[in-house]
Amino acid sequence: MPAALVWFRNDLRLADNPALQAALETGFEPIPVYIPAPHEEGKWAPGAASNAWRHRSLKALSHDLHQRGSRLVVRQGDSSQVLRDLIVESGAQALFWNRKYEPATQPRDAAIKQALRAQGFEVRSCNATLLVEPWDVQTKAGGPYKVFTPFYRNVMASLRARALYDAPTSLPAVPDALKGEGIEMLGLAPRLTWDRGFWDTWTPGETGAHEALDVFIDGALRGYLDQRDLPDRVATSMLSPHLHFGEIAPWRVIAQLEGARTAKLDTDIDGFIRQLVWREFAYHLMHHFPQTVEENLNPRFDGFAWEPATPSKLQAWQRGMTGVPIVDAGMRELWHTGVMHNRVRMIVGSFLTKHLRMHWLEGARWFWDTLVDADLANNTLGWQWIGGTGADAAPYFRVFNPVTQAQKFDPQARYIGRWVPELEALPVKVRFAPWESPELLRQLAPSYPRQPIVDLVQGRQAALAAYAGTG
Ligand code: FAD
Repeated sequence: MPAALVWFRNDLRLADNPALQAALETGFEPIPVYIPAPHEEGKWAPGAASNAWRHRSLKALSHDLHQRGSRLVVRQGDSSQVLRDLIVESGAQALFWNRKYEPATQPRDAAIKQALRAQGFEVRSCNATLLVEPWDVQTKAGGPYKVFTPFYRNVMASLRARALYDAPTSLPAVPDALKGEGIEMLGLAPRLTWDRGFWDTWTPGETGAHEALDVFIDGALRGYLDQRDLPDRVATSMLSPHLHFGEIAPWRVIAQLEGARTAKLDTDIDGFIRQLVWREFAYHLMHHFPQTVEENLNPRFDGFAWEPATPSKLQAWQRGMTGVPIVDAGMRELWHTGVMHNRVRMIVGSFLTKHLRMHWLEGARWFWDTLVDADLANNTLGWQWIGGTGADAAPYFRVFNPVTQAQKFDPQARYIGRWVPELEALPVKVRFAPWESPELLRQLAPSYPRQPIVDLVQGRQAALAAYAGTG
């Protein structure tokens, strides 16, 4: 049988993998290939937390391939050159991959496809990542959407169940002559084990992804809609890194939810699918407005008076030492687990872009380096949304009050207590704004900042004044 390269990227799974499936169905013996090429990702080469995840996810994929008689051929270099070398060395007659949508790699992939096809070589790309391709959803006027709700309605109306494919039980062996490098040699795993805390929470890889989905369906799904905003409990699916690395297909997630649907779960399932469609919206925007990974989607903000990023203030935010407990709790959760609850992402984002008035890119870059679910589409959407510069965004004048947000969404201050343990000795109601009880703070939490790095009232007023100046 002729061989075909199957180029793995952000689709680190064997089940529901359309490129692998297509290679097998067209009668090829697949040669699984992985090419780490961060230099081809432009300004958004994967960050440290993402690399730590990828290391483990690749090992899981490699293990799963071995179990089926195949193997992952890993080679570093320029993707185009490595693919050409592998085609020559293996005698492969076709190349299959699943699409990526980032602005830096989309043109690269298009150029590779064009060049190889021009030589008469078979190249096929598939969709492993999205429920709907970004170009398949249009407004009535025929353009891209900038507002979520009509986008969501359109996606839901056009959504069709896709066939599910279990991982193949066996795969052909890859010829020994085809040499590759060990995953350990790629330098993805941190040398100092600062990521130790991550793996209490996470199991990267396809098996971990399927387990996370099962755990969610058996547990937090019930009550998702009411509880998804409460950061002190596991009330969401925790699927975001698995979805980012393509360890599970979004249409399988939906199929399993539909399989579990009962009248009691109706609203929770619908609410969850709505969140999944936010992810589709993020990819839709990134595809149609690729400049927005760096630039404001709303040009009104192009002349906005952002504050220069003062290193001491930025560091206080990054390290969770701002003196505002809910902000500090979120930033420390991120550092320890590689993830942060969605509600708290909004609170810390509002604090950075409004109270501190720093550019949303400062926050986006920090998240990029520290999140295990760092995803260019979702991160850009999240930061432009909270910074008020994006599509269908929280208006800039909506400044989250971190004290009332904490009182509403973490009423027992359990989340604050978990991540800012030096405040645990304080009475619960003092933990939201400890600077208002200076004597208690001095006695019971002496190592915590006495005052927030910005006065919350003045910060809010300064933000509103700067916004008024955008005209
Ligand atoms: P669930 O509530 O279980 O949601 C299921 C899935 O839906 C998620 O896994 C995710 O894929 C998708 N989803 C949920 N909410 C959103 C959303 N608001 N936007 C887009 N997709 C969503 N998400 C990332 O995956 N990567 C990021 O880099 C990222 N950066 C963000 C930055 C900011 C400032 C903000 C406010 C949000 C960001 N998000 C990002 C969105 C959201 O916070 C996470 O997707 C969510 O917290 C993941 O937890 P979960 O899987 O348990 O979510």
